Amino acid sequence: MRTLRIGVLALQGDVSEHIDITNLTLREMGLEGEAIMVKRKNHLDEIHGLIIPGGESTTIGRMAERFGIITKIKEAALSGLPIFGTCSGLILMAKKVRDAKIGETNQPTLGLLDVEVVRNAFGRQRESFETNLIIPKIGKNPFPGVFIRAPAIASILSKEIEILATYEEKIVAVQQKNLIGITFHPELTDDIRLHELFIDTILKSPFKDKILKDNL
Ligand code: GLN
Repeated sequence: MRTLRIGVLALQGDVSEHIDITNLTLREMGLEGEAIMVKRKNHLDEIHGLIIPGGESTTIGRMAERFGIITKIKEAALSGLPIFGTCSGLILMAKKVRDAKIGETNQPTLGLLDVEVVRNAFGRQRESFETNLIIPKIGKNPFPGVFIRAPAIASILSKEIEILATYEEKIVAVQQKNLIGITFHPELTDDIRLHELFIDTILKSPFKDKILKDNL
């Protein structure tokens, strides 16, 4: 039987919510598999895709650095491991990060996704809000965008970036080959379409061969 194992970086943030929605998505897609927590470096050897959840990006980044996970995630991503970053997860994936108020953040990041991200881009008045997003790649029906002290993508740094969604002229979802980054929280909704898109990305990646090999 082919079993897909999807890791959720479990250092801080919306971990259990991502585990639950990923397991639900696998079931809905009729796939054998499970979401597992990634807390240490060696857990990365066991997975076919990684979700980096929302939370507090400086905290997640510092812990990941302390446990030596940052370097290993980066190597895995460069060799094709699909990664899905939501909110803080996107901040950690970005090549460039700054804060809307304080500017340079100097926080540890993976530096994978060719975008510049601005933290807290929606300002104090709109710390958290929900809005309908149009994301053509996942269908016509609007997606419930839950934004919590959300970042925005201020600019794209290469032609490899595919813009998946914008909101109020800000870029809020992108894909670059095996990497998906979004500024909101699908794990806090019951809409599984973005997790489905991520799992489809895993199934199309070279890691699908790893899945086959692992399960011979
Ligand atoms: N503002 C947070 C950060 O910079 C992100 C918020 C979130 O993940 N909900 O990490």
